[in-house]
This record gives sequence, C-alpha cells and structure tokens, in this order.
Amino acid sequence: MRHKLPIEKLGPTGKGMADAVQACVHCGFCLPTCPTYGPLGQEMDSPRGRIALMKECLEESLPLDQALPHLDSCLGCLACETSCPSGVSYRELVGPFREKAEGLRSRSWFNRSRRKLFLRILTRPSLFSLVVKASRLVQPFAKWLPKRMRVMLELLPQRLGSQTSLPERVTPKEKTRARVALVAGCAQQVLEPTIGSATISILVRHGVEVVIPREQICCGALHWHAGEGPTARELAKKNIEVFPADCDAVISNAAGCGSCLQEYPLLLKGDSLEAKACVFSSRVLDLSVFLDELGFIPPPPVSGSLRVAYQDACHLLHGQGVSGAPRRILKAIKGIELVSLADPEICCGSAGIYNVENPDMGNELGINKAIRVKEAGPDIVVSANVGCISQLRRHLAQESQNSKVMHLAEFIERAYNGSLAR
Ligand code: SF4
Ligand code: SF4
Repeated sequence: MRHKLPIEKLGPTGKGMADAVQACVHCGFCLPTCPTYGPLGQEMDSPRGRIALMKECLEESLPLDQALPHLDSCLGCLACETSCPSGVSYRELVGPFREKAEGLRSRSWFNRSRRKLFLRILTRPSLFSLVVKASRLVQPFAKWLPKRMRVMLELLPQRLGSQTSLPERVTPKEKTRARVALVAGCAQQVLEPTIGSATISILVRHGVEVVIPREQICCGALHWHAGEGPTARELAKKNIEVFPADCDAVISNAAGCGSCLQEYPLLLKGDSLEAKACVFSSRVLDLSVFLDELGFIPPPPVSGSLRVAYQDACHLLHGQGVSGAPRRILKAIKGIELVSLADPEICCGSAGIYNVENPDMGNELGINKAIRVKEAGPDIVVSANVGCISQLRRHLAQESQNSKVMHLAEFIERAYNGSLAR
C-alpha cells in the first residue's frame, strides 16, 4: 500500500508501522481468517480495512474518531499475520497505533477510570483475589448489573483454588538437565493456581531446575494491547532486569504473556534497553515448546479412551507460531484420542480484556467456539491460556456442553498422577 506516513515524526516504531502498511498488497487472503470480518461484514472491520484506516489516521487525512470503532473491535488476535502471504507484521502497526490513539482519544472520566482500575486489579494477584471473593456478594444481583460487570462475573470460576505462593526455586532430585526461569502470571495465579504448581512439577520431572524470580511483575500484555504503552514499558523494563540471565530459557505457560514477552523488542524500540530486550525475548518459550524440544517424557497410558480437543490460543498459534508442540505432547500420551475443532485459527473472543470491553462480539465468538466444541464432542478441551479457559467454560456452560476445560500443564500433571477422568 503506497503511503505518506511521517516516519520521523512517529518515533522509533515509525519504520515498522510504515513497513507493515507498505507490505500490504490488498490481496484479501486475511479476510476469511479475521474473526470480526465475518460477523460485522464490512471492509473496515477486516485486517486490510484496518490497515488502511490506520494509515489514513497516521497521515492525518482521516479523523481518529471515525476509525476508532473499527479498530476497537479488533481482537489483536494476529490471525491476519498467519494468513498473510506478504508477511505484513500487523502487530508492528496495531500496537504502536493503539498507544498513539490512546493518547489522543477522548474518553469520559468514568470510562478511563474503569479501564485503569480493571487493569490494575487484574495485574495484582492479591488485589484480584480480594475482588474475586467480594464479587460473590454481588452474584445474586447480577441480572441488574451493567453488561460488562455481568460478563466479568460469568468469567470467574465457581470456586477458587487455594492460593499458594510459588517457591523461589525447585531443583530435581536426579541430574539437572536444564535450568529455567518461570513466568508466574498474574490473573492465572488467582483463577487457576494449580497451573503454576503443575508446570513446576512437570519441569522437575524432566530434570529441570526451576527458578521463579520473586521480583517479577506483570508482563504488561493487557496494558500493551489496551494502548497503555508507558505502563507496559515500565513493566517490561523491570522484568528484563529481574529475570536471571544465566538460565536456558524463560518459560511461559500463558499464551498472552508469552507473546507479549516476545514482543519486548517492539515495546522497547529505541530505548536504552532494546538490545537487552532482544536477548531476553529470544529466550522466552512456551512450556509446550520447551518440553517438546527437551524430549517430552510421556506419562503412563490413560485408562479407557479419552477424547481430547486442543484449543489453539491465538497468542500461541498466531502470536508465537506454535501449533505442533502441544499436539505432539498430547499425542504422546497413550489412551488419548486427539479430536480436531473446526476453524482452529478463529479466536474464542477472550483476547485479554476484549470480552469485557466488547461484550457483544466477545459473546458471539465465545458461542461460536462452544458450538465447534459441541460438534467435536471431546471429554476434555485443553488450552494453553487461562483467558481462553475462562471464556470456554462460560460458553460451554451456556451451550449445555459438559466437556471439561483445563490447561495443558494441568492435563499433563493429572496424566502423570493417574487422575485424568472423563
Ligand atoms: S493478506 Fe496481507 S497483504 Fe493481503 S490484504 Fe491481508 S494484510 Fe494485506
Ligand atoms: S488481529 Fe485479529 S481481529 Fe484484528 S484484524 Fe487481525 S485477524 Fe482481525
């Protein structure tokens, strides 16, 4: 796409934004994979349309307010990157654009405060835990609450697992094959505390020493995707400093966090820490990729035949290009029949805080995914992202589909313990 973007004026991310615009050749291959294009049916709600809108806003030939509704409906799922034959790096355009737009757009005081409060709560486990407990008190009055609050309540688990703080270091009894640092996750620690402990247990079974830096903080994914660049950068800088440099990998077990950690070089472009960000990000691996490369040790066969569907989290499939490793791990467990879900590349509608910010589209996509699960009829749906897990559980319950939903780490750990059941 020809452009007149003022690259210098746009700062360190200007060239990446211009390259993304320029690489788009209008072919439209991305359109069928964009989750919002089908339901909304407008060019402006497709990747190609959004690229054109962002270009025009950056060239100052279109008022921002006219483009924002179509950009706000974008999930940031990056399916358009996977399907683009021209290699358009949509993330290099949409991330920096959202940050610029956030600084220019007018939001009501209430709207701005609500977003900030929401981000603050979700990224502080102790605060989030208190809010989740307090939310039980308003459950009986849910039907009178605003739509966004109702969605939030429906996404919370029926029961919270007991909150245990993760240890600082765990070493295998036998010979150590590798040493990794683990990303603890924020909301995940509250919503599904067993994911962290299962991850550590699996790694240790594989002879891996696990370090969980106490000083680590939120990875910044939710802030970055919400256009809150300055806060996301602050968090990224702190994490780069506190994760040990002498480990073999930084392991993430949440697709959204892993994808953001791999985007730190983009987030810190032009910053004095950019080079460090590149080194740090190159060491970030999803748990499934690390186990697959290390040599996954299969658990004992599962008794009886268990139908399992793997749900691709967008920030793993599209954000990190990972689809084979988790499937190879599941296939290595005897007694499991791996069934496919139709349209695996289409987002479930969770996308960070998208399902709360855009409840109607989040709902539509959630229902569509639940229907795909219903068609495949698995006993268990396995995912690698706590946001997808919450979204799937909510919509499967609404569709009266009783498949269990669990994280890959929890699934593997249960297989080792012999406690997997239909
Ligand atoms: S597939 Fe790529 S090049 Fe084609 S329209 Fe979409 S973004 Fe542009
Ligand atoms: S990121 Fe997802 S929702 Fe946004 S344009 Fe690309 S495919 Fe569509």
